[in-house]
Amino acid sequence: MRYGETGFNLEIDLTRGNIERVETDPKMTELYLGGLGTSAKIMWDRVGPEVKPFDPENLLIFSTGLLGGTPCPGANRTIVMTVSPQTEFIQYSAMGGFFAPELKYAGWDKIILRGKSPKLVYIYINNDKVEIRDATHLSGKGAVEVQDLIRKELKEPRAHVAAIGLAGENKVRFASIEQGRSSASRLGLGAVMGDKGVKAIAVRGTKDINVARPAELMEHCNWLMDYMMWRMDNPIPKTMPILAILGSPQEMLETDEKWHTENFVWGNARTRRKDFWSKEIEEEWTRTQLAVRTRLISCYNCPIKCGAVLTIPEQGAYMMKCFTKLTYALGAMVDSLEFSLRTAQRATEYGVDGFSAPQVMAFAFELKEAGILTDKDFEGTDEYPPCPEDNGGRFNWLLDRTVRRQGIGNILADGVYAAARTIGNGAEVYDHNTIRKHEQTPLKLGMINPIYYVMYCTNEKLNITQIEGQWPQMPFRDPADREAFVKDWFQVPDDRFKEWLLKWEPKGEFALPYYPGINEICEIVDWMERMHYIDNATGVCTGLSAFHPKPPYHIHNYPKIISAATGLDMDEETLTKFTKRERQLVRSNNVRRGWRREDDTPPLDHWAKRLPEYEKQILDAYHVFKGWDMDGIPTKETLHELDLDYIAEDFEKRGIYKNG
Ligand code: SF4
Repeated sequence: MRYGETGFNLEIDLTRGNIERVETDPKMTELYLGGLGTSAKIMWDRVGPEVKPFDPENLLIFSTGLLGGTPCPGANRTIVMTVSPQTEFIQYSAMGGFFAPELKYAGWDKIILRGKSPKLVYIYINNDKVEIRDATHLSGKGAVEVQDLIRKELKEPRAHVAAIGLAGENKVRFASIEQGRSSASRLGLGAVMGDKGVKAIAVRGTKDINVARPAELMEHCNWLMDYMMWRMDNPIPKTMPILAILGSPQEMLETDEKWHTENFVWGNARTRRKDFWSKEIEEEWTRTQLAVRTRLISCYNCPIKCGAVLTIPEQGAYMMKCFTKLTYALGAMVDSLEFSLRTAQRATEYGVDGFSAPQVMAFAFELKEAGILTDKDFEGTDEYPPCPEDNGGRFNWLLDRTVRRQGIGNILADGVYAAARTIGNGAEVYDHNTIRKHEQTPLKLGMINPIYYVMYCTNEKLNITQIEGQWPQMPFRDPADREAFVKDWFQVPDDRFKEWLLKWEPKGEFALPYYPGINEICEIVDWMERMHYIDNATGVCTGLSAFHPKPPYHIHNYPKIISAATGLDMDEETLTKFTKRERQLVRSNNVRRGWRREDDTPPLDHWAKRLPEYEKQILDAYHVFKGWDMDGIPTKETLHELDLDYIAEDFEKRGIYKNG
């Protein structure tokens, strides 16, 4: 009997319309757990470096995590993996909501899509019964709207539906996949779904999942739930509001946006408005937020309620995605929260990433101000009106053009990096906030923070909002606050982490950028990354684990929870070895695609003060710490220790190892 997982993947060849039920090898679970780990292995085995994002051989994998659908609170993530049309690396994005548990209850661990459908279809999974159904009548429908239409058509109000909007259908390279209470937004995964001709996947499941030791697992789950409720009632003192309680993050509960509005940057990631958050703005934004926030909602099996349904007058209801509350207003240089919320609703129906899309629009207007784009690019045609003059109006006009690939929008639909190179004429200079061709969070900060520097440089997820971790973002000024913080910080791997935090000062010898020191930086980043990799394999929400300073899931209880659910023999050492294996496998997939040390570079002007020599030392040390050579390639010894010799052999054959 399989525990935690179903032991079956659903494979669909869209070209032939072939549907297969594939039993998986339990050994894969022992080596790679599930979720990201097993998906990365499938990609390694079946998607070579020659496969491009829109080739039929590219796979689009929707994966549950190993704990998904078990009683473990917050184990509800769907990890979506493919070759990204933006970066051409193998990437992934995790969405919350209800999709993954429902998929498991239908009897499947993963959906693996290959090939391309000759016409637009949607997939209906009802336990063992799987159908590919015509979706031509749904073409052009919004990514949220279509979910309801499909549920009505199927007469199955309890089906959970993941869908794309117009942007995905038109292969906009920052198109998202939307799903009820969450989305897989980053890296253009929706464009791959559109290219495969899949408008949506609807799933309904009513089966059970077996767990190995139910009574023991329930004890852990009860503790997790108790801790979660306690933490919500007892915010961490002297910590920014969205991190003081649990969640991922609590943007629609909190109304205080001083930190984000003054540290995220406006327009094309250029302008910092240090005094933006005035009393008037605070009052107006709070009033607006509370007026449209219909209710706070949670994902499957989680009481935290960090999502919200927003009902915008004269527009539809939708769920706010991570910080799109702010990104549209910031990108458009508009002071109104209402503008952001209205635009975010349209953008969610179009199905675009809420971080990339506003940056693409703002980039275009910066090019216009610089004379690189001209009035002609913003003229109307028989199909659409000319671009309005006001900031908000022109922003929405450009969003409309981009998702339809009309006029200049056809170029912008490929994202900032590609558009800058297509436009040329100096436009490349305005591409300054991308990492590996992907728009990053628009931040502009002072002195470089080495911990964030390493995360930005080396993380595969390419998304700082999803790789932040448990180490506090800033030191506590008062030593008494530090003492108080470490007192119940049982989530740390060991007590050295507490000692480092106790010594960490805002200024002087023990301040950033030289304290914590290089060895400590390596250990801190490695710990935070380890937690993310466990979350992405188990399907647990990072808002209850890796993202939070004091989360319920941590490195000490995770092995016991995984073991009770799955029966796997697991302790901290085994789990750490597993995450190292998963991490090297994910990186190796991309090393094979050409990812090297020079790709480990943060956005150009993310920090005002950079320290090139010191940055090099840190990165050198981190490469050694991770078992990579100075070119960023996992060494043969590292791979051997982790039972990944097949990767070393592949690198050898391809001539990736330059020095034998
Ligand atoms: S913490 Fe928030 S995002 Fe995470 S599972 Fe719970 S409700 Fe969903």
